Formats: sequence, C-alpha cells, structure tokens
Amino acid sequence: METTLERPTIADWRTYPQTAALTSLRPQADRLDLVWDDGRVSPFHHQWLRDNCPCGECVYAVTREQVLEIIDVPADLAPERAAIELGYLCVHWSDGHRSQFDPGWLRAHAYDDDSRAERLAAHQTTRVWRRDFEVPVFQHDQLMEDDSALLEWMLALRDLGLSRVDGVPTAPGSLHRIAQRIAFIRETNFGVLFDVKSKAAAADSNAYTAFNLPLHTDLPTRELQPGLQFLHCLVNNADGGDSVFVDGFAIAQALRDEAPEDFRTLCEMPIEFRNKDRRSDYRCLAPVIALDARGEISEIRIANFLRGPFDAPAERMEALYHAWRAFLSLTRDPRFRLQQKLRAGQMWCFDNRRTLHARTAFDPASGERHLQGCYIDRDELLSRILVLQRGR
Ligand SMILES: [Zn+2]
Repeated sequence: METTLERPTIADWRTYPQTAALTSLRPQADRLDLVWDDGRVSPFHHQWLRDNCPCGECVYAVTREQVLEIIDVPADLAPERAAIELGYLCVHWSDGHRSQFDPGWLRAHAYDDDSRAERLAAHQTTRVWRRDFEVPVFQHDQLMEDDSALLEWMLALRDLGLSRVDGVPTAPGSLHRIAQRIAFIRETNFGVLFDVKSKAAAADSNAYTAFNLPLHTDLPTRELQPGLQFLHCLVNNADGGDSVFVDGFAIAQALRDEAPEDFRTLCEMPIEFRNKDRRSDYRCLAPVIALDARGEISEIRIANFLRGPFDAPAERMEALYHAWRAFLSLTRDPRFRLQQKLRAGQMWCFDNRRTLHARTAFDPASGERHLQGCYIDRDELLSRILVLQRGR
C-alpha cells in the first residue's frame, strides 16, 4: 500500500498531540478495532471512518470543514485493506478512495467507553461554591496586557461563575475596553453599557431604584439570557447597596439532592418572565432550571420582579408553588449567600446564567451610588478560551 509521508490534515484548527500510539488493528465485520500501546482497544465503524476522512476531497482545506456527506458513499462501504503505517491509520476503501488518520486526532475522538468517560470528565469543570467562597480577584492592567492572565480570568468565569477585577479606571465607559478583551458586547434595550443608579420616578426597572433587589438573573425575559455580566463601580459611598451573590448551580444541586420532586418541577414547568415599558415588551416562557444535553445543570433563570402569573394545569399549581417556594427559600439560605460592598474601581464579572445577584437597599440621600454594566454571551467566552488554549 502506498503511503504519503506528510502528516495527514485534520478537519480542525486545534492540534491533537499524540498521547498514545497505535500498535495493531483487528478487522471486524462492521468496524476496525484499534489497539493502543496502553492496552486500550477502540472500535471505529467503517461508516464513522469514511465519514471522518480528512483528505482534500472530503474536507475543504481552507475552512477545514467537511464537504462529503455520508450518503455520497454506500452504507456498506468497507476497507479493502487497512494498516498502521508510520503511526497513522491508513485505509484503502473498496471504491478506491484512500484515507489516512492522525493517531492524536483518532485518540481524541475515540468512542470506546474509557475514552468517552475521559472526555466527559474533562468537560466537567464546574466548581460550585457557598458563602465562604473566596472570590478570585484579578488586576485590570494585567488583564489588559497579558493573555495568560486573561485566560486565567476567563477559566475562573467558566468554572466558578464569579470574579472581581480591581484597579479599573473610574471614568465612565472604562469597562468597555476590559470587556472587549473577551469579546464584543451584547447590546440590549438598556444600551451597550447600562447605568445602574437610582432613577426614582423615571425608573424603567426595579434595578434603577434604591430598594432591596432580590436575587435574580438579568433578562430572564429573553430567549437567550446574557451570559457574562460586568458591573463596574464608579462611586459607591451611599449607606447600604451591598452586592449579594448566590451560586445558582449550588442551590439547584442542593434542591436536586434535598427535594428531587421540586427540582424536577422547576426543570419541567415553564414560567413566564416579562419586561415591559412604554416602548418594549419582552416575554419568555421557560423553566427556572435548564439541563444541558449531558443532563448537567446548565442555566438558572429567575427574577421575581419580572415574573408573570403562573399558568399551569390546575392539578399541578400546588406542586409549582411548592417548588418555587423551595427555590426562593434556598436563595435566602445563609449557607449560600455571599455579601460584599463593591468599591470605586472594582468590577464584578459573573456568569449571569448561573450566578444570581442582588443588591441590598441603599439610602440615596446618604451618598452617591453609580455602577455601569454590560453583557457578553457565554459562547464568546468559551470560544475565546479555546482559541487562547490552542497550541498551549
Ligand atoms: Zn477522503
């Protein structure tokens, strides 16, 4: 069998270092079983291999995206010959097509039970926290200049969902540049940047008043709640006005452990959230707790002051109130509440789809309180992390 010596391309921009070497293969009726030098055996079905051929005919090299659709080849296509050559898997198909697979890429995508368990474990990076959590603090200037510091900050946001940045200039608009170190800002009807201060009678949200604001996520009224929220303190010398945070994943997990019926109810029964003023009218019907495709808690959606009346089958209304009360009680449970006053030049940055935030009441007559905020979607954070991790 002819072999070209250059490393096969892969349909990706990441690199896949070789963590194990292929030692042999065992042809089966519908697949090849590949044996690695650490003893692992990974099955690869014929269709899967053909579907993932990285050659220039099957993948467009410029975009590294697939051109082939699997129905372009027969379902029963099989290798005429297959061998390990110079460490690569080489397959000569019965229709004449040839494929070469990089062992690092193959190992990273193997779907034997152990490989899949490894990938699942690598995906589970979330660490929940409670009241005694020591919020990771980052320095503004370092984040602006140093990509390693930036990556560390973004990993904290991904895994812990809460961080504080110190040393942010107190000129209005200063959070724009630091936010853009991660990605572009998500604009909303409250603006690119929004000002959080007491607007009294002009307030278009309870956030813009001086009274106690209960724990909530921002914009649960949108199909996609903003991912990251930045809250930058320009001045905060009024009495009160502390920030309160609760890890929504921690209380959802507590509910899952302590009251599984209530947990299920909040995963299944949708609630309508509404945000309306004279010019806009946003409404979203969704459950309080969302699970991702792996069954992990992935999102909390809550803001009592933006909630519509419950609309549920009459025989389930009591169950819904039972679950809702249980969840609200957990938000007030001291085990979970972290309270801190933000000072001028400090900025909170947190996962708005996970970390609930609140503000204690403040006395606008006692001093000034002015925060600026903005949002960036969670996808942008995750993408930026993966790009910065390339080749590290
Ligand atoms: Zn091909």
